[in-house]
Amino acid sequence: MSGLLEEAKALVAGCDRCGTCLTVCPLFKVRDVERSSARGKNALARGLAEGGLEPGPEVRGAVEFCLLCRACTDACPNKVPTDEAMVRVRQHLTDRAGGPTVTYRLVGAALRSRAAVGLGALALGALRRLGLLRLLPSALVPKEFPRKAFLAAFAGPAALGGEAPAATPGAHARVAYFQGCGMKLMFPDAAEATLKLLGGLGEVSAPDNPCCGLPHLAHGMKGTFLELARENIALFEEADVVVTDCASCGGALKHLADHFKDDGAWRDRAAAFSAKVLDLTEFLVRAGYRSPSRGERTFTFHDPCHLARGQGIRRQPRQLLEAAGRFVDMREADTCCGGAGTFHMDHPGTAARILARKASSIEATGAEVVVTACPGCLIQLTRAAEASGGRFKAMHISQVI
Ligand code: SF4
Ligand code: SF4
Repeated sequence: MSGLLEEAKALVAGCDRCGTCLTVCPLFKVRDVERSSARGKNALARGLAEGGLEPGPEVRGAVEFCLLCRACTDACPNKVPTDEAMVRVRQHLTDRAGGPTVTYRLVGAALRSRAAVGLGALALGALRRLGLLRLLPSALVPKEFPRKAFLAAFAGPAALGGEAPAATPGAHARVAYFQGCGMKLMFPDAAEATLKLLGGLGEVSAPDNPCCGLPHLAHGMKGTFLELARENIALFEEADVVVTDCASCGGALKHLADHFKDDGAWRDRAAAFSAKVLDLTEFLVRAGYRSPSRGERTFTFHDPCHLARGQGIRRQPRQLLEAAGRFVDMREADTCCGGAGTFHMDHPGTAARILARKASSIEATGAEVVVTACPGCLIQLTRAAEASGGRFKAMHISQVI
């Protein structure tokens, strides 16, 4: 048995097949076959590890049909980490096949290269300015609702509010912004808003960081993930706090130390790095940030899986939104929106059905703006906003507070 399968088997060993996870898995809700659920996936991991199952295309498809959203783990009486087991099995299947598919290899290589991401951001920026983004499929480049449009649409105290007031950044002297690839490529306006917020709180640096490596880890490219992790650890060594406005990056960076536990040379450096990573909302609440004004617009919040379950951050975004306007919580606010990295591209039909449930939850609140804290979710929510015919807009939290 391979070491990875052994690890996966150990991770799912606590599954007593009770079926509680079936009721919360977003995939089981739209495709109710056992292998969609965590219980089914755990059985697959066991079957592969024990040799009762052959790793053919059907098994591979089932293992890849997972949002890694952790809703199952949250609900499971035994807290079985099915998502972690699936990452191990994916890695095993990828190694066995001689590496990832050509598509993932290309995407992985592009995100691996700072120059490629930078060039991509420049090219998209030029298209955005020329109004030509609509020529590209919205799965690739969503139509961002920029802060300028938000202020124009919701004229009132917010439009007059000006810049964030200078507040005490607490004990944190050297704050560094970790900019995720998604923010850089898809939502530069939101990234700029984040930098402004941070700038209002003290000295901020924004090193040219590479990808957090999460897309690589999720698709069986652990070697690249570790290389990127080492680059980031070294790059941010001088910072006291590393703030990110991407829930996926934050989740990956905060858990980075787990991957270096057995690496004597990097263990302490990785642990020090992970300990100083904060989500933007977490940092702002700690630093005592206050919105410059409270507007009349109504917000609702979609919890990114990597923020709510990945980092246990639920209160802070709501607190910030309550201070910036009227806040209404939606039903199933922390249910995955169907984005899940590249899931929405690999399984567009399923992702669309998951998103439709989310859109109806948003509409039921009557909110004018659905806010989130992850570019992956924002891509999906922007799509839902377009489909709603203007009933609501989708924005990153840095743009509305
Ligand atoms: S809830 Fe947990 S123990 Fe129950 S079937 Fe699902 S994974 Fe297994
Ligand atoms: S991680 Fe999410 S999608 Fe995957 S089995 Fe668990 S609940 Fe379902």
